[in-house]
Amino acid sequence: MSVYDVLLNNDLIKELVEVAKDTALLHGLLLRTKESPYSSEVVSYIPFTLFPTPVPRDLFQQALQVQTLFNQLVDKISRDSCFLEEALAGPIKVDMFTARLFQIYRTVQQEACAQSIALCLNRSDYMLDLRPDRNATLKQIEINTIAASFGGLASRTPDVHRHILKVAGLPEHSKRVLDNNPAAGLASALAKAWELYGSVKAVVMFLVEDIQRNIFDHRCIENELWKRNIPVIRRRFSDVFKTGLLDQDKKLFVDGKEVAIVYFRHGYMPDNYTEQSWEVRLMMERSQAVKCPDIGTQLAGTKKVQQVLAQPGVLERFFPNEPEAVARIRATFAGLYTMDIGEEGDRTVAMALANPEKFVLKPQREGGGNNIYGEEICRVLQEKSERVAYILMDKVNPQPSRNYLLRHGSPVKLATCLSELGIFGAHIRLGTDVVWNQCAGHLLRTKSAEYADGGVAVGVAVLDNPFLV
Ligand code: ADP
Ligand code: MG
Ligand code: MG
Repeated sequence: MSVYDVLLNNDLIKELVEVAKDTALLHGLLLRTKESPYSSEVVSYIPFTLFPTPVPRDLFQQALQVQTLFNQLVDKISRDSCFLEEALAGPIKVDMFTARLFQIYRTVQQEACAQSIALCLNRSDYMLDLRPDRNATLKQIEINTIAASFGGLASRTPDVHRHILKVAGLPEHSKRVLDNNPAAGLASALAKAWELYGSVKAVVMFLVEDIQRNIFDHRCIENELWKRNIPVIRRRFSDVFKTGLLDQDKKLFVDGKEVAIVYFRHGYMPDNYTEQSWEVRLMMERSQAVKCPDIGTQLAGTKKVQQVLAQPGVLERFFPNEPEAVARIRATFAGLYTMDIGEEGDRTVAMALANPEKFVLKPQREGGGNNIYGEEICRVLQEKSERVAYILMDKVNPQPSRNYLLRHGSPVKLATCLSELGIFGAHIRLGTDVVWNQCAGHLLRTKSAEYADGGVAVGVAVLDNPFLV
């Protein structure tokens, strides 16, 4: 039997869907429901694909191999205040959120640096671009330097897909689903940073949102830390506002507990902040606690920085004597274009207006659902002052695949899908020494091709696994 036969065998699909849901629940692929987002009394499975999706082996390897270079790059950018200031000059004039983050960055840069341990947990996302005249190429969509999620649950999806394939009568395919354990990879780096901080009683604090539907993804990493006897607490900005303080050595205490690491799973979009939260963020940035990420690293993950990096000569600034590193990073860049006021920006606008369907217009935002496509691009570009808040990017065209998407409360139907591959990376610097630089696993997310944009959290994409071909 081939995968194709299975896809079209309705009776078998019906059976597999039931098997898949139960197996997902058994393996802890969980999500709190929309109806009861504040508790785990009633939970369901996280949306996922019925089958893994084919990914060319060479492109998968390329993505893994370039990850440690991206880790280094993010770390170098986070420390280069001149570069960040210049790169973000446009957006911070018109985008209050980026401006506020940058204000905190500037404030802590001017104070004596409180903490010499820098921990980054990144996820670089790619799509495989298909053009008529050549093989698919790996193109970076973006790099997430704050709150990159699904490392926890992605550690549990391979067993579910393997099981489904066996029940489907495809045992050989089952063997080709890769092992993956970003939960352990990310937790190891957190554990190393905690150890370097050097206080056995100090805790790792997950900074979390009010509504924590994706709590099980956090718990996978959290429990990996407890396994290593590292205490974890979970707090919201409002909790830290009430009980957080810095002592005379700038050590951060919350509820009387010393915090070794603040691990942000929140704080990446404007809605996450009240005036109180901004105060708390500044206090945490000033503190001795290791910030994952610190504010410079968060800014290094902005779309504007991504666009500036694609300009000639910019990667060379960060890898001055490493042409091979520069070439490997650059090979993953799609076309990225400035929206600055001036001739170059005007050229970008003319190009976008002529063929809006070939591009994506991206603001300095995270979390999915913020990009602008097609005719909508033309409308935004007509307002000259606003345009510097955005960058323009070539639209990547991946090969569609056919799959069934399983989502709590939605009917299951065969869909034409597009996938996005994420690679997790972990990096620790102690002063000027890099003490950790690893690739920590992968994530495949798949969505119905009818949606241009949107992640798992906004209800568009679902978890998947690569099936190497
Ligand atoms: P966010 O930080 O909000 O996740 P992304 O850059 O990842 O921002 O964009 C969100 C989604 O939009 C992606 O997951 C992808 O589906 C789609 N997208 C973004 N950039 C492109 C692109 N250049 N080509 C095609 N699709 C894109
Ligand atoms: Mg992002
Ligand atoms: Mg994204």
